[in-house]
Amino acid sequence: MPADRPLLGAIEAGGTKFVLGVGHGPDAIIEQTQIATRDPAATLAETHAFFAQHPGMAAIGIGSFGPLERDTNAPDWGHILATPKPGWSGCDIAGSVARASGARVAFDTDVNAAALAEARLGAAREARVSVYVTIGTGIGGGVIADGRIVGGIGHPELGHMRPRRAADDRDFEGICPFHGDCLEGLASGPAIKARWGQSLSHLPAERPAHALIAGYLAEMCNTLRAALAPDAITLGGGVMDTPGLFERIVEAAAASDGGYFASAAAQVIRRPALAPVSGLAGAFLLAADMLQADG
Ligand code: ZN
Repeated sequence: MPADRPLLGAIEAGGTKFVLGVGHGPDAIIEQTQIATRDPAATLAETHAFFAQHPGMAAIGIGSFGPLERDTNAPDWGHILATPKPGWSGCDIAGSVARASGARVAFDTDVNAAALAEARLGAAREARVSVYVTIGTGIGGGVIADGRIVGGIGHPELGHMRPRRAADDRDFEGICPFHGDCLEGLASGPAIKARWGQSLSHLPAERPAHALIAGYLAEMCNTLRAALAPDAITLGGGVMDTPGLFERIVEAAAASDGGYFASAAAQVIRRPALAPVSGLAGAFLLAADMLQADG
């Protein structure tokens, strides 16, 4: 009975677009739209105008690009932290949305929101511990354990782990401005473009490009298996739309795990079930969870 549930708002705040929704939950969306991400003032003004058409929302959940402050006790909770994205460093997204709407606001990373949605409603529904990773413009991930988002200081930065360099990949410096050849610096969409001038989908599958990127992502999966013993690792994002890449990753992970783990790579590594709306679904869950936690 959706009408018995409070009216909620949801924002998936991405680097290229904001997806906005209003409804009683991810299963009862009343209206949904998307707008282009520009500077904060223009983007947030359009966001506020959308929600102004739906008065009476009890809470709005935001899953945002980062880095960001998700600790509700921190003075800069709800803010975007230092980002190369022009104008967005220090932007108080959560405060702006709360002031404009009058609703309470739940705030977390876009990948944590997506991870929560896949764990509760999607590919990792039976999992006790699950990881969601998006491989696209950047590489980011969220971890869910027993229904809760995992994080202490800050939030996981799975894209910035350093994989072992492949023997035939010694020359490329990597594009991460902080680390050079971390995973994001080696295997994100922009790293692929920097290496070969085009996306993986446009490169012939028999070229070493596919095997190299699959190898790095397989190593990430095995690192996550070693660290967290997850029941599920869900791989989303634009790079994962490359035909055949998912299968190559599973194959490479199985080939390099030494048969050591208690689970099979093919059982753990999964495709998202909710894409492309896992982030928005998760933002609804963030809002609903906040209301529930407060009774
Ligand atoms: Zn990095």
